[in-house]
Amino acid sequence: MMQLSDRVLNLPQSATLAVASRAKAMRRDGLDVLSFAAGEPDFDTPAVIKRAAIAALEAGMTKYAPTPGDPEAREAVAAKLRDENGIPDVTANHIVISTGGKHGLYLAYQCLLDPGKNQQVILPTPAWVSYRPQIELAGGEVVEIPTTVESHFKITPDQLRGALNEHTRVFTINSPSNPCGTMYSPDELGALAQVVVEHNRSGGDVCVLSDEIYEYITFGETPFASFAACHPDVAQYTITANGLSKGYAMTGWRIGYIAAPSGEAGIAVAKAIAKLQAQTTTCICAFTYPAICAALTEASNDVENMRLQFGERARLAFKLVSEIPGFICPEPTGAFYLFPDVASHFGKTSAQGQSIGSAIDFAEALLVEKQVAVVPGDDFGGCGPNHIRISFACGPEQITTGMARVREFVDTLT
Ligand code: PMP
Ligand code: GLU
Repeated sequence: MMQLSDRVLNLPQSATLAVASRAKAMRRDGLDVLSFAAGEPDFDTPAVIKRAAIAALEAGMTKYAPTPGDPEAREAVAAKLRDENGIPDVTANHIVISTGGKHGLYLAYQCLLDPGKNQQVILPTPAWVSYRPQIELAGGEVVEIPTTVESHFKITPDQLRGALNEHTRVFTINSPSNPCGTMYSPDELGALAQVVVEHNRSGGDVCVLSDEIYEYITFGETPFASFAACHPDVAQYTITANGLSKGYAMTGWRIGYIAAPSGEAGIAVAKAIAKLQAQTTTCICAFTYPAICAALTEASNDVENMRLQFGERARLAFKLVSEIPGFICPEPTGAFYLFPDVASHFGKTSAQGQSIGSAIDFAEALLVEKQVAVVPGDDFGGCGPNHIRISFACGPEQITTGMARVREFVDTLT
């Protein structure tokens, strides 16, 4: 048997992708599985975006492109971040376009962290399953700030202050949040930014990595705000990570981007990230660059239309989930997830005799007995082991039928 590296042997599977692909395989086998597993919009990519890629392909945009991205697409991203998000002074030179948001984050952690140097990354949890593995692959140590349902899974400035120390290199924040389905207000982000600014002014050296991939999927009163724009002095310390996967329904296109901190120092960060990209993936698929420009400048009606539908689904899913005995979660305000605490059912037995000792058991029995796929919360960290994640990126009929099945499952636990 060929010897594999410890690095990869110790790497956990992506729990989200694993459940989603199992649900798909069960459907292929003819089972009537309703999947609430994947964090993937069910909508098709808007036509205006597809047309731009088709035209570029037909025009022969089939060669290697510049590693950080072609100039028009980088400028379109920079203009969006300046004009729409209010991030000051971001230029095309601050942007690196990456193979999906996930690889952008991976490149950023690789550029910020070294193994063996006792470098810490603050991560409010529950948090998306890939942050911890990516941070650890880069040699960093994850310092969780656990949150609760009661705080709507948000941390306070005091909690952040308490977690910062001379070893902290990165503070990762994801608002709206996967898996929590909640988001910070601009004022709440501003108060967290103030803590970072004070820390760095008194000798600290912390970079904020703000993952804003769900920026367009919001449905509460709270407007979305970019971390880099929520305090006058924080852009110089903030890397903004984003991409087209969620808001534009483009998960299969694999388009993400990183905006480096403002100023000359930030351009050096972008160059470092591009250097690593040059040695790993070179550039993204070349004929998709014009599609990025089309998405950022011509698809706002499509995005708004999807956002409104996500809002309706959020209200429906929250209503149905809140009616299930023992399920507790805050009202969703952003991203397309509910993350209910289901621990009051631990210790019970399912209709087919499976004992439910954990969220993993709960999700397994629900899949086998009711053909409903959800992701157990364990790999999201913090209070995650008491929770399951329900993605409502699917139509209202599926939400209604699926939550009725979950309800039946719960009602027959003894
Ligand atoms: N960040 C978060 C919080 C996510 O949920 C996802 C979804 N996979 C990503 C980043 C990466 O998105 P992608 O690589 O599909 O662009
Ligand atoms: N982010 C999505 C999710 O959480 C897609 C899968 C993944 O990349 O983790 O389900």
